[in-house]
Amino acid sequence: MLLFASDVHLAAHRPGAVAAFLEFLSGPVRLADRLYLLGDVFDLWLGDDDTREPHPEVEAALAETVAAGVPIDLVRGNHDFLLGDAFAERTGCRLAGEPLLIEAAGERVVLLHGDTLCTRDAEYQAFRRYARDPANQRAFLARPMEERAREAAAIRATSNSRSRLKPEDIMDVTDEEVARVFAECGAAWMVHGHTHRPAVHELALETGPATRIVLGDWYDRGTVLVWDERGCRLVSPGGLPA
Ligand code: MN
Repeated sequence: MLLFASDVHLAAHRPGAVAAFLEFLSGPVRLADRLYLLGDVFDLWLGDDDTREPHPEVEAALAETVAAGVPIDLVRGNHDFLLGDAFAERTGCRLAGEPLLIEAAGERVVLLHGDTLCTRDAEYQAFRRYARDPANQRAFLARPMEERAREAAAIRATSNSRSRLKPEDIMDVTDEEVARVFAECGAAWMVHGHTHRPAVHELALETGPATRIVLGDWYDRGTVLVWDERGCRLVSPGGLPA
C-alpha cells in the first residue's frame, strides 16, 4: 500500500492539523510500504535551521516513521521549497525533484506539488524562478532568521492580497500544461496538490485516457490518497486502518 498526502500546512496556529498529521504518521502510515509527501507539508519553512514549533516535533515523528521501516519521499511545495539536505539527513526523508515518476500497482504515475501546472499565473511563475534560484536561496539562508521571517511575511501579505484579485481559473492548473507533463512523462496517472481542490479528473488526452488526482489540504479533515492492489481512492486520514 502506498499513501500520498500534501498541503498539511503544519504551523503552530493549526494545532488540529499538527495532531492529525502526527496521528497519521504513528498510525496508518506504519502499515504502508511508502509515504509520498507532495509539498506544503510545512506552512512556512525558512531553512533547515527553522526550529519554530511544530517543526522539531514533526521532524522527530518523520524520523521515527522512517526508522520504523516506512520510506518517505518528499517533494517541495511553494511554502516549504527551502527544505534541504540537513532536514533530509535528520529525518531520513528523501527529497525528490519534480516531476517524480513512480510505479503504483503496475501503473506509471507522475507526482508533483502542482504549482508548476498553474502556468496562467505569470506573476507567481516569475517569483518561483527567483525563489528556486540556488544563488538567491544561498543569499536568503545566510540572513538572520528574524530577517527571513520578516521578508517571508511581507511576501505572503503581497501574494495574498494579489491572489484575491485573480480570477479563479488563473489559480488553477492549465489543461495544456497538464497534457504536456503527461506526454513528457509517458504516464496515464498524475497525483498533485497545491490547488486545495481535491478531486479525481478523468481526462481524454490525444495520447489516450489519463487520470489526474488532486489531494486536498488538512485545514479541516485532511485528504489522503491510498493506492493498493484494489486501486486508488481519496479518503480522510481518520478513516484509515491504524
Ligand atoms: Mn502549494
